Amino acid sequence: MTRSDGTAAVAGPDGAAGRPPVIEFRQVARTYPGPPPVEAFRPCDLTIRHGDFVTVVGPSGSGKSTFLNLAGLLDAPTAGAYLLDGIDTGSLKDADRTALRGRRIGFVFQSFHLMPHRSALENVALAMVYRATPRRERTRRAREALRRVGLGHRVDALPSRMSGGERQRVAIARALVGRPSLLLCDEPTGNLDTANAQTVLRLLEELHHEGMTIVLITHDQEVAARGRRTVAIRDGVLREEAMAG
Ligand code: ADP
Repeated sequence: MTRSDGTAAVAGPDGAAGRPPVIEFRQVARTYPGPPPVEAFRPCDLTIRHGDFVTVVGPSGSGKSTFLNLAGLLDAPTAGAYLLDGIDTGSLKDADRTALRGRRIGFVFQSFHLMPHRSALENVALAMVYRATPRRERTRRAREALRRVGLGHRVDALPSRMSGGERQRVAIARALVGRPSLLLCDEPTGNLDTANAQTVLRLLEELHHEGMTIVLITHDQEVAARGRRTVAIRDGVLREEAMAG
């Protein structure tokens, strides 16, 4: 596809053309003040469009957490601009950043972060508690999200009675239930055995095929290879890796 100005229009999956990218970094950088100062994330341009499945890979200390915190609006760049869904996040007040994060980003962490004494259904439904969604609707959507991750039969189970793979699927349901623009996953298979890791990765691939935008951070090259795009971080420098095939 070519635009009238002659430039190529990149129509990503799921009708990304015409919509602002989910993530747009314009010379984003993060330096920790120190002393001595650490340039943990060097100036970087990065565009992630709707429907992308991007893996971010790098060894320990390379800057992955710094990237996660920036992309997840948990930290702000010390230079450059970060646009999320076209919104320039640098101009937002703290409360607005928090609200934007809550609405647009679903987080999935290595260690699940579930409430141990609440059922799977409550864990998922509670993710919407700060929204104006009525309780019945929260419960309905939580059930739907749990069905989507294959846990429709486990809604009343406590996390302590679930396998690691089931816990991570609850966490994915919780991340999805607010219908975010972006699923931001930090080592989502890091605490799982091989079989459960494969189940979770297959689930993420299915969600990608349904149009979800996914960014997955990992130190594991095999996990990174499951993305449709991979960017590598080394010493705070982020580089796009060549596409396989
Ligand atoms: P990774 O997640 O890949 O292990 P990090 O993003 O945590 O890497 O760290 C990148 C670099 O920034 C490392 O050199 C680390 O020591 C440094 N760093 C991380 N957080 C801070 C901080 N709060 N203050 C100073 N240096 C930091």
